[in-house]
Amino acid sequence: MTNIQRYRLLTQAGFFVLFILAPVFDLFRLDLNLKHFFFLGMHWTLGLDDFVTGKIDSTQAALNLLLRGALPIFGTIALGVGVSWKYGRLYCGWLCPHFSVVETINQLMHRTIGKQSLWDQHDLPEKNADGIRTHPNKFYWLVLLPLVSAFSFVWALALLTYLLPPVEIYGNLWHGALTRNQSVFLSVGTIAFFVEFMFARHLFCRYACAVGLFQSLAWMANRKAMVVGFNRHRAADCVDCNAACNNICPMRLHPRSIKRQMFTCTQCGQCIDACSKVQSGNPQGTLLKWVENDCALDKSARDFGQHIDIPTHCYQPENKR
Ligand code: SF4
Ligand code: SF4
Repeated sequence: MTNIQRYRLLTQAGFFVLFILAPVFDLFRLDLNLKHFFFLGMHWTLGLDDFVTGKIDSTQAALNLLLRGALPIFGTIALGVGVSWKYGRLYCGWLCPHFSVVETINQLMHRTIGKQSLWDQHDLPEKNADGIRTHPNKFYWLVLLPLVSAFSFVWALALLTYLLPPVEIYGNLWHGALTRNQSVFLSVGTIAFFVEFMFARHLFCRYACAVGLFQSLAWMANRKAMVVGFNRHRAADCVDCNAACNNICPMRLHPRSIKRQMFTCTQCGQCIDACSKVQSGNPQGTLLKWVENDCALDKSARDFGQHIDIPTHCYQPENKR
């Protein structure tokens, strides 16, 4: 595993823990009993109750709406759009707790049935980018199914704590005293997540996640945004490779294709990592790397029928610049 993949694993693990613990420490949650949000340990209300009871005037109420409502919401959206416009779906590939589950299940499914998804038409080659072979073994179903069940339960439980006080939920669970509604939520949620994780996890990331969709749209709007570029002048070097970059992609994309066909790329960098391993004996190095600005146009402008030539500096190894 390269350093960059190690860092990514750390950020994903950290954010997954944050996702579970944020409601516990009132960092962020909605309390349906109190009918307002908590944010960074504080009650997050619009302060309009004071206006209704006459404690503040209309100017103060309008200021409250602006500072406690519009500013945090639009500020978060602007930050998300800005980062995605320049770097794409970084949130998905480096933080999202759903994508960490997707990747974990993909890897285990690869070990179990030789494919990352039940819907892949062809088995993956046994030889991985690093030369190590993965022999599918049905025995791994005994690990995969309990793990997916555990992920599903944890997700349903975490979501419930985003809606009701975590102390109440975890306390009730510990004492076996969940209310009927809480039990129904947990059961239905666990079953729904199990089905989604097993059968539709990529479909969710591609078509159903609004956070992912808006990141992709912002990214597509910027032709010079960071993208996984392919040095097509050296395409002949791919001849001896079993398409390791395609095989490893957790979103089941083809990283050598144009940007439009990589609409849902999560910038995880695993394809780049795979190519570096395949080409480790080649002095010219990897054929795939993150590029931006003019170097990104070969990927993005070609979407629109143009054939931009790749500037010579884009794929030069660092030591030859
Ligand atoms: S194309 Fe590469 S960077 Fe994008 S999701 Fe696939 S493996 Fe990750
Ligand atoms: S780009 Fe790299 S990993 Fe992908 S097929 Fe070519 S040599 Fe293999």
